[in-house]
Amino acid sequence: MIALAAPLLSSISGYWAGAFQDLSALPQLDVFDPASGALLATVPQMGALEARLAVESAAARLRSPPNLPERGRILSNIEAGLLAEQEQFAELITRENGKPLAEARAEVAYAAGFFRDARRHLDALQPKTLPTRPRGLTWRVHHRPAGVAALITPWNFPMGMLAKKLAGAIAGGCPSVVKPSEITPLSTIAWFAQLHALGLPPGLVNLVFGDAAAIGKVLCSHPAVRVLSFTGSTAVGALLSQQAAPHFKRLSLELGGNAPFLVFEDADLDTAVDALMANKFRNTGQTCVCANRVYVARAIAEPFVSAVAARVRALRAGPGMEAGVDIGPMIDARGYAKVHSHVQDALAMGATLVVGGSGDPAQRFFPPTLLTGITPTMACASEETFGPVIAISVFDDEDAMVQAADDTPYGLAAYVFTADRARADRVVAQLHFGHVAVNTGSGPTPEVPFGGFRCSGLGREGGAEGVMEYVELQTVPWGPAVG
Ligand code: NAD
Repeated sequence: MIALAAPLLSSISGYWAGAFQDLSALPQLDVFDPASGALLATVPQMGALEARLAVESAAARLRSPPNLPERGRILSNIEAGLLAEQEQFAELITRENGKPLAEARAEVAYAAGFFRDARRHLDALQPKTLPTRPRGLTWRVHHRPAGVAALITPWNFPMGMLAKKLAGAIAGGCPSVVKPSEITPLSTIAWFAQLHALGLPPGLVNLVFGDAAAIGKVLCSHPAVRVLSFTGSTAVGALLSQQAAPHFKRLSLELGGNAPFLVFEDADLDTAVDALMANKFRNTGQTCVCANRVYVARAIAEPFVSAVAARVRALRAGPGMEAGVDIGPMIDARGYAKVHSHVQDALAMGATLVVGGSGDPAQRFFPPTLLTGITPTMACASEETFGPVIAISVFDDEDAMVQAADDTPYGLAAYVFTADRARADRVVAQLHFGHVAVNTGSGPTPEVPFGGFRCSGLGREGGAEGVMEYVELQTVPWGPAVG
């Protein structure tokens, strides 16, 4: 087992009722370093019973949720705690997820930003009194905590994706039950050790992980859980929606994407190439907002492809803890096999391999790859590849390019590169995606709402909208008898 230099990881267990629990009698799950395959840690495999205990702990806290000033203090303390231990958290993220350490540091700073931003929206949660008196009554509107929030997160940004949810839940006054991915639970466990040290009210945050299906069933059906916030694959999002539907839970779903990246003939080539490299290879291409389909105008296709090819050839893959590494390993053999099969499928259907290739499925580092001649029926065009592969198609006119870009059941992120303001406005309006970036490859920031159209999800995270996901409005007309 690798020695993890992480003092915050002294208790590797579930957390509820304000304490790490003794779960040593449970079966244990192994957590591996994706860069080497070495065992990092073993963690208890919790199930339905532990999930129920965690929900009950949260439900008990719901009877006396923190008031608005307390929530402000908690949010500030969490932000400060993340920044104070940025290095320790970043190292844990890199160890369990594989991403380069610089990206992991950026993830921790990004996570802290959600707590800073959520604090800004607390004032909007003060009760409001209607200035007029319809029906001769005084009308007040309260922003109540919606109930216990179940927060289920993926492995690709273990702390960033949780921060989006936890900041909104705490701002809204909701106690939560957190369930991280079993592939990357360590950074979340360490974060809980810090939350414990911050002295949060018992039951406000609770942690379970292990048998995802068994835990998920409890979180979807327990009457105390009123908000189910999930980030992960569209398939699991659909399953959780079905399980939660009979109980009318509020759903906040951040699901898969299939982002198009459109480069028109008038685009600044250097800007577009830089943006594509930064956007595509972050987290080794395992991000929901990374460009999956690149559409380029024929007039600039040649210089664009050769500039991208030179940059892809220069990328250095290696363990995220090593200096100078641009991309890390694939998260696991399943992730590797999916990327491998997408490249094989494209080549079998006539795509051209410009850089990289299929690699060796026994390896952990997929070679950064550039394919051209992509057609819509290839798997890499119709599904999220989730790996370091750039797949380029060439187009002759704007309408055809926009139509192809929008022809997907997903709708998370899209990118448009053009020097023409009118064209940018026209194209953005025709793309049914929750996040459409113009002349930048930037993903979301904590200050704005982010979420998907279509099969990419429901609800928003970040900004004031991300807080409102955890708030129920209660309207109270006051009759004359109460003073
Ligand atoms: P996943 O759906 O396999 O797992 C996500 C989480 O759901 C994990 O915690 C997992 O343990 C849990 N889970 C799995 N089966 C479950 C069940 N039956 N009941 C309850 N929980 C269950 O996704 P992943 O592989 O961890 O993450 C990658 C996916 O996440 C990609 O599709 C990516 O696009 C998506 N993603 C979306 C966003 C976004 O903001 N839209 C952000 C990051 C990742």
